Formats: sequence, C-alpha cells, structure tokens
Amino acid sequence: MAFTEIADRVWVARYEWFDVNVTLVGGDRGLLVVDTHASDLAARAVIDDVRRLGAALGGPGVVGIVNTHEHFDHTFGNGAFRAAYGDLPIHAHEVAAERTVSAGERIKRLYDAQPDDPHRDEVRATEIVPADRTFSSAVTLDLGDRAVELVHPGRGHTGGDLVLRVPDVDVLLAGDLVEESMVRDGVPGFGGDCYPLEWPHSLDIVLSLTTSSTVVVPGHGAPVDREFVEDQRNAIGIVAQTIRDLAARGVRLEDALGATEWPYPREELADAVRRGYEQLPRSEKRLPLA
Ligand SMILES: [Zn+2]
Repeated sequence: MAFTEIADRVWVARYEWFDVNVTLVGGDRGLLVVDTHASDLAARAVIDDVRRLGAALGGPGVVGIVNTHEHFDHTFGNGAFRAAYGDLPIHAHEVAAERTVSAGERIKRLYDAQPDDPHRDEVRATEIVPADRTFSSAVTLDLGDRAVELVHPGRGHTGGDLVLRVPDVDVLLAGDLVEESMVRDGVPGFGGDCYPLEWPHSLDIVLSLTTSSTVVVPGHGAPVDREFVEDQRNAIGIVAQTIRDLAARGVRLEDALGATEWPYPREELADAVRRGYEQLPRSEKRLPLA
C-alpha cells in the first residue's frame, strides 16, 4: 500500500520522483487529496493507489483537491484527478491559483529543452488545471464529521503557500514551506520565485499553529516534528539576516554568496540572495563603494 496512515484518517504516500508527498484526509463525505504530483501520468499511478486504499476502506471517493502552492510537482495531477472523479473543487491560495498556468508553462519550456530527461514527454503532455476555489488568509473545508483549515501564513517558498491543519489529530501539512527530503540534503527550495526575507516570519505563523506533538508533513520527505520546523525556520532566518547584513554593508549582489558563511550550500542559495536583494527596501541597501 503506497499510503501510510500517519494519524486517524490521514494517509501520506511518498513518491520517488521528486520524493514528493501526496496526502489524503478522510471524512465521512470522502477523501480530500492534498497535492497531485508532477504529471498526468504520475497522477494516474497515484489515483491507482488512492483507489486501492479506497477499496480497502469500503469505497470512499475523492471529493476535493488542495494544492499547497502552484509548482508543477504539486499541481500537474489536478486534471487526472478530475478525469477520474468528476469535476472536483480544487482549492489553493489566490496567488497560487493565479500563477499555476504561467508557472507550469515555464516548466514545460524547461523540459522542452531537456531531450534526455525521462519525464520530458509526460510533463509536456500534461494539461495544466489551476485551482478554482481560492482564499486570501484562511478558510475551513467541511469533510462531514471533520473540518480542515487552510491557512496562508505569508510568503516563503512561493507567493501563494498554504498549510493545511487537521486539528482533531494535530497534523499539519506544510507544503514546501518545510522540506525534509535528503534528495536535496534537507535544503528548503529557494527557487526563482521565493521570498527569503519573509519566509522566517511565515514559519513563525506556522509554528504558532503547532504543539509539541504536532506531526508536520513536509512537501518532500518524511514527516517531522515542531523542533525540525524550528530548526529550519532558524536556518532560513540566518539566510535572511545575512542577506540584509551584506546589503547594508554595500556588498554587491555578485559578491554576496562568496562574502560570508551560509547555513546551506552556496549552490542552493543563488536565487535566494538575488531575490532577497531585489525585495529589500531601498533604505536597507547601501550603494556599493566600488
Ligand atoms: Zn515541491
């Protein structure tokens, strides 16, 4: 069985491609699927796993989809789930929903230029289906005998991250605001659309939704506890503070990565530093002395 029950009626399946998690939350209305994997083809394999679990449970189907953010490894299965289960509502933060198509088209162009990638054809063949149910700060979804909460804690990994809380079992699905995957040595994804200066504060909001016994499911990798999230928050906080310090000293962007120590490997931080410099208010940047 691909899906493992990590708490009462919360199942997580971890897929090898991207080491990405797909989570199911069950209520008496059916199953809510959180993130849908990285292509139509990959999602069809996920759906087979969902059906196996559903059969073992006596038949609940999928009644809704949540995308934790717009990246293709979390949204490109949306269309496959709709093809399998009918016109499901797809929930996401309003910014994630708005960016899903453009972000996905960008990824398709990147795969287009990678003729040797074994996943090229399935990514390019996927029809991008964005969320159609959006919210700004928080919303509750009713699964019948249980409710789950979607919260936008602020920007971080992307501009439209959400976390999903299942309060009755103290589970929190963190999307890529938290990453555990050793495929990337546990480094959170600082991509070209991240908000490194705001990310630590967003994780403070996430932490305020946890207890010492919360199970936190990251977007990639194994479930973690609050202490893991605190450690990642602190490391990202050091990245943010280092960017501020370097900019305040007038260190040029092109010199910043090599100018000091970082809590993560430098090759993972080029976008973070560039984005941080761009996002700093003018008053916090000094002109380079050169
Ligand atoms: Zn991801």
